[in-house]
Amino acid sequence: MSTTIKAYGAEDAKAHLKPISIERRACGDDDVKIDITYCGVCHSDIHTVRNDWKNSKYPVVPGHEIVGHVIEVGKNVKKFKNGDLVGVGCMVDSCQECASCKEDLEQFCEKGMVGTYNGKDKHLGGHTFGGYSTSIVVNKEFVLSIPKNIDPKGAAPLLCAGITTWSPLRHWKVKKGDKVGVIGLGGLGHMGVKFAHALGAHVVMITTSPDKAQDAKALGAHEVLISKNEDDMKKHKNSFDFILNTIPVGHEMDPYIALLKRDATMVLVGAVEPLKPFHGGGLIGGRKRIAGSLIGGIKETQEMLDFCGEHNIVSDIELIDMFDINKAYERVIDSDVKYRFVIDMASLKG
Ligand SMILES: [Zn+2]
Ligand SMILES: [Zn+2]
Repeated sequence: MSTTIKAYGAEDAKAHLKPISIERRACGDDDVKIDITYCGVCHSDIHTVRNDWKNSKYPVVPGHEIVGHVIEVGKNVKKFKNGDLVGVGCMVDSCQECASCKEDLEQFCEKGMVGTYNGKDKHLGGHTFGGYSTSIVVNKEFVLSIPKNIDPKGAAPLLCAGITTWSPLRHWKVKKGDKVGVIGLGGLGHMGVKFAHALGAHVVMITTSPDKAQDAKALGAHEVLISKNEDDMKKHKNSFDFILNTIPVGHEMDPYIALLKRDATMVLVGAVEPLKPFHGGGLIGGRKRIAGSLIGGIKETQEMLDFCGEHNIVSDIELIDMFDINKAYERVIDSDVKYRFVIDMASLKG
């Protein structure tokens, strides 16, 4: 038996988000039911609402940076109990059997992971609804523990922005003393700076806007490189061990490729769209690599959260009420937020 709950959603690509009712399944034997307290606002939410990736199903109820308390567990659930502070990120299910799932890389499930919203709902049919809602029921394998000592509001964005930047830093084994560039100071970039700093790297914020220098340094960048300044770009040529590229749109690649050391890698985590053509010689000349990375598996997400607990790392956020969401979207598009909006779900419960 399902329950009807309050949510915020969009009925079509042109619509503003508004209050709607959705169904949540009853808590099954393997499920955890969560009372949502906070939900982060990710740029992907906006892309999905506006059908930018041409795969949206309506109504869209976005939200995949979910934090809340456990209010019910199924009989097979041992790891969680009522009252626990937990999180849910971008995935709520996967096949659990394929090679990727067995390697704890559910985000690359060969049968397709189930997105927290806009995914195929195996239980109720139709599609999944995300965290802009009062509660959610999730398979226990996709529920994460939030460390008790960190601020739950600031923890919400760790579930997408956090793991998206953490996973490549770990996969490419960024270590103490490495020179790491982070391109773009937004929701992703600010987490990249914090993590790279905490891992002991020498962090260089690479940005087009000189006015972001102060903020980047406050977040943990040791240097700021203004990408429009050709002389400064030349000074840093062939010097980076690793570059995390968070630019969310197609862009010139050659200036950044030139910054990499021999054998170094630049990883894209933002631009899910065509890039400007770049010169093969830039890669060939230094055996350089360009790679991509998508969120992270559940095991790695828990490791990231535990690391945040140990190092007291959270996202810098601006807390909003649910009914402010349409204004917040405009500000995200204008990059006018430091650095993530988080919805206080008490405002929807009313
Ligand atoms: Zn996201
Ligand atoms: Zn799988």
